[in-house]
Amino acid sequence: MKLFLQLFVMVAILSLQGKILRAGVLENVMEGKATVIDMTYPLNEKNAYWPIGNYTPFKFEPIATLKKDMVFSGKYSTPEHLGTHIDAPNHFEQNQPSVDQIPFEQLVGKAVVVNISDKVKNDPDYTLSVSDILLWEKTNGQIPSGAIVLLNTGWGRRWQNFEDYKNNDKNGCMHFPGYSKESANFLVSKRNIRGIGIDTLSGDCGNCSDFQVHHIINSAGKFILENIANIDELPPRGVTLILAPIKIEGGSGGQCRIWAILSN
Ligand SMILES: [Zn+2]
Repeated sequence: MKLFLQLFVMVAILSLQGKILRAGVLENVMEGKATVIDMTYPLNEKNAYWPIGNYTPFKFEPIATLKKDMVFSGKYSTPEHLGTHIDAPNHFEQNQPSVDQIPFEQLVGKAVVVNISDKVKNDPDYTLSVSDILLWEKTNGQIPSGAIVLLNTGWGRRWQNFEDYKNNDKNGCMHFPGYSKESANFLVSKRNIRGIGIDTLSGDCGNCSDFQVHHIINSAGKFILENIANIDELPPRGVTLILAPIKIEGGSGGQCRIWAILSN
């Protein structure tokens, strides 16, 4: 009985500490004590977008200027899937939430970062394998339930040059890394993740035409973050991610501000 009581007190203290630590993340930001990394590329006409079909570049033009109108104001047009953005679960699957329906609780989470940039150096078509994940877990511990998994492929170095970023071959087929369908299945079914993210144009690799990773993640009601900036500045774990997507009613995704808060 005494042992039971000791255990009960220990668990109570630990869960209280957990609550204090969680509350502390935002307090540290407000007090200027936390390292915050903006994972979002600025929107401009050079931004990468899905280069197929009716997709168009980002466009901004002023509709009033301080000089002429005494007020500065502009208008812009953009595909939803341009620049740093989120794919809502309804992007590839019926009867799944649109971007405005993703609850706030899903947009805040602990992130883990898996680095496959060494493998991508020799093979731009490389896709994350389940054994890459298990190897990561050997060093860093099991991916916590509810984590947002980010893939550092090293592709962000090409961001400034859209041609390098697409990496088309002579037949117009793109070549860039991604998740494999096996790794997406594993993360959804065995690790109960919140969503996934990547520093390329797509969660699927460039020459994957069946979008299996999108189907697996979206059919589980989860999101994909694409064209994420500065992934290479993040540690493998100890990161809290805050996502703020644009609220397009019924939208399939959209531009998303992403901040990473590092636990110091
Ligand atoms: Zn997308």
